[in-house]
Amino acid sequence: MFVYDLLRKANHRLKAAKKARAGRFISPVRRIERVYPVKGQRVCAMTFDDGPARTPSEPDLGGGKPLTLLLSGILTEYGASATFDVVGDTSENYPDRRGEPDKFYWGGERYDHYPDFERDADGGAKNCPELIRALLDAGFEISNHGYRHVLFGKSPVYAKRKPFDGLDSVVEDLTRLHRLMEEQHGYTIRLARPPHYIDGIAGGFTSYDAYDLMGYHYMAASFDGGGWKPENGSFENDVKGMVEPMRQALERDPAFFSGQIIFQKDGCNMSRKTPVAAALPRQLELLKSFGYRVVSVSELMALSPFEDLSPEDECFEAARLLEAKRVPIGYRTNELRPDGIMTFGELCMALCPGEVRLARIRETNGPYGTALKWAAEHGVTGGGNVPVKGGDFSRLLEAAELPSSVPDKASFTRREALILLSEAMK
Ligand SMILES: [Zn+2]
Repeated sequence: MFVYDLLRKANHRLKAAKKARAGRFISPVRRIERVYPVKGQRVCAMTFDDGPARTPSEPDLGGGKPLTLLLSGILTEYGASATFDVVGDTSENYPDRRGEPDKFYWGGERYDHYPDFERDADGGAKNCPELIRALLDAGFEISNHGYRHVLFGKSPVYAKRKPFDGLDSVVEDLTRLHRLMEEQHGYTIRLARPPHYIDGIAGGFTSYDAYDLMGYHYMAASFDGGGWKPENGSFENDVKGMVEPMRQALERDPAFFSGQIIFQKDGCNMSRKTPVAAALPRQLELLKSFGYRVVSVSELMALSPFEDLSPEDECFEAARLLEAKRVPIGYRTNELRPDGIMTFGELCMALCPGEVRLARIRETNGPYGTALKWAAEHGVTGGGNVPVKGGDFSRLLEAAELPSSVPDKASFTRREALILLSEAMK
């Protein structure tokens, strides 16, 4: 227990340091872990990874019904929605060896297999179009968890795994699932989560580069529903392990889940059981009794897009408008920091046309490099980290072919700058 506590503390520190680093620059792709609580209501989102699965729950609680339909049916019964973070097809992930139960490699040594090793034909959007159709017809959101669920890059935790070899392979894999959803279902994916949250891609790229090329935001989660862990003594213990932490959190703070994203599995845990099938109705009952509405991540983001932006804030509507146009205005951490000072580099990033940025994504220009180059090509130069002055603000708006009447000031808060920017873009 002592070692576990130390590890957990170290992990918390690591996460905080990672967040501080990630929060230094504006990014077209934001990692959505949670959002600012929605005004006047208790709303949270749920996500279900690794489906769809045609196999029944284990043990079978639905009379042979496919797990995905059992879960979506329970959600609908409670008036809840969710985001199903689906894979395309894992049947290409061979040759491979069956993994050891209860280990990270339970599904396979070199690759993952959903819903299970050598049962790939019963999982994924390609093999189960009827399950995808049923999810869409019932109003659920679909996100991109990778066509083959191959790791984006190397990870010490998954040392035996064979990851993708670079950015092009990752984008090609994501594109296969994106196209399948568009061509077969007329549906456009907007969010994605990397397999096992591995972000580094060979060649110095990250999942953020891949998602920028795809036009996605990075869908993370702030609360672990727990349905992926190895069995802890018995099935009933596993179910309790998914319900009790939620109950305790709500009893400590009834508003605890406001703005949070809950992680769940549309599949087996590491011991090939599906405690989620038994735990989900109890979790939804609990949330309902505390007055929560459960929605998809995009529905949550439509109500409150950033983690630190209150709906009461003066720039809330401006930020929402810019967000709807996918103008890069927030940090990777999903913060907006309206009280901060708008820098020259940040404004260049917001105004540099997306196609210019994406055309140069394979050059290593640094966070604002491409945007600063674009500005310089239009005769506006400055340091990335210095406050933007009124004159440069106007010239940058002109470079972006937008109306350019901004007051001539030495600096602007990000709040002021975003309001000016949204007025210019109306
Ligand atoms: Zn996964």
